[in-house]
Order: sequence, then structure tokens, then C-alpha cells
Amino acid sequence: MTLTVRQFPCLSDNYGFVIRDEASGKTACIDTPDADAVLAALKEAGWGLDFILNTHWHPDHAGGNAAIKAATGATIVGPAEVTRIAPLDRTVADGDVVDLGETRFQVIGCGGHTLGHITYYDAADRIAFVGDTLFALGCGRLFEGTAEQMWTSLQRLAALPDDTTVYCAHEYTASNARFALTVDPGPALRARSEAIFAARQRGEPTVPTSIGLEKATNPFLRAPALVRHPGRPDYEAFAEVRAAKDSFRG
Ligand code: ZN
Ligand code: FE
Repeated sequence: MTLTVRQFPCLSDNYGFVIRDEASGKTACIDTPDADAVLAALKEAGWGLDFILNTHWHPDHAGGNAAIKAATGATIVGPAEVTRIAPLDRTVADGDVVDLGETRFQVIGCGGHTLGHITYYDAADRIAFVGDTLFALGCGRLFEGTAEQMWTSLQRLAALPDDTTVYCAHEYTASNARFALTVDPGPALRARSEAIFAARQRGEPTVPTSIGLEKATNPFLRAPALVRHPGRPDYEAFAEVRAAKDSFRG
């Protein structure tokens, strides 16, 4: 299988993605942060649009659904929670599959940032679209779910192969790195942070990342190793790091 991914920045710090299954020519966009930006990316690629694949209901992820469907006739696929702001053509949940031509996405339930958040995982190409669940050196805020739920979701993503390419929905990485350095003194994080600051200075994206890189340096995935939590479950260590990030100003 071959999946082509075209990534572009939009809004203040979102990334949009338009993708194409090369075997069939079928196309999709991952979320709809900005209808004009998604339509411009499709035009630049010379592609139509067959599917909109939503990860969660937030307006910077599903707010462009109606305008993009009106312009392209695309079929909208997403978790039921998206109907809070826009209709869906097909509702999917954990364990479902979504076929884009010959590319098969597994739907992985990743509640926590929102209760119904999902990830689209293409095992053949080792590509995951994780929305606002996992970021480079970060993770989504717990707007709806509990720390235990989010920890479970992050562990599901961490269980994917190390060489899985992870497309996150925001460029938060430099800010995430500044926080991470306050909780993890390790050399791997220091080296990665320097590379991130330099990349951002040059105006380069730090997305995509990989599961292996995040397992090695992401302070949320590493929380049980960074926070002493004798006799307490790992998600409580995660909850401490998440709370520290929520109040971090830097
Ligand atoms: Zn969100
Ligand atoms: Fe978002």
C-alpha cells in the first residue's frame, strides 16, 4: 500500500492533512480545521475529495466539514460526538475499519481530550493520525476525560510499532519542549529539544514524529519513570505531569 500525505499549517497552530491512496486514487482529509486551507491544498495537489475523516468534535477539527462537503461532495466519517457540531455520513468507533481505496485504517478509541476522540491507524504504511491525543513531546489537555482514560489511550498509541509515523494536529512542540525540560533532565530530551528549537527558528515543522521518538522523550509517556509513585498506578504519575503542564507558563 502507498499512502501519500500532504501536510500544511493553518489557523494559528493547526496542521491540516490531505491524503491519497495511490493504488486507487481515493483521497481524504484528516479533520477540517480551515475549509479554505483544505480546499487550497486539494487544488494545489490536483485532487478531488472522497472522504473527510474526523478525529474529534472540536471546531478546529470539524468546523470546516459543512463547507468542504458542499464544495466536494465528500463523505464525512467520524466519531458520534462530531454530531454536536455537524452531521456525519458514517459514524465510527473503536475497532471499526475505514477503507480508503486499498488503504485500510483501523479506528483506535483514544478518549481523554474529548470522550469520543479516535485515531486513524494505517498498519500497512505505519501511519497514525492522532488528532489532539498525542503531540510531539506533549499530549492533549483533558477537556472531557479523566487522567486514567487518557493514560490508557496514550498506552494504546505507545503500543504501535516504534517506526509508526505520527501526524499530530498542532505545532505545539517548542512550548512542549520548554515544559518537558522542567520535568526530565535526561540527555535524550535535551538533544531533541535543541533540534526542535533550531527547526522552529528555521520555520520548519516538527510534525510528523514517531512512536519510538515519543516513547524515548515525551514526558507524558515517560511519566511513570519521571514521577515517583510507589504503590500508586502509573496513570497517577501521568496525572501529575499533566497537571504540571496545565499550570506551566513558559
Ligand atoms: Zn481538540
Ligand atoms: Fe485541536
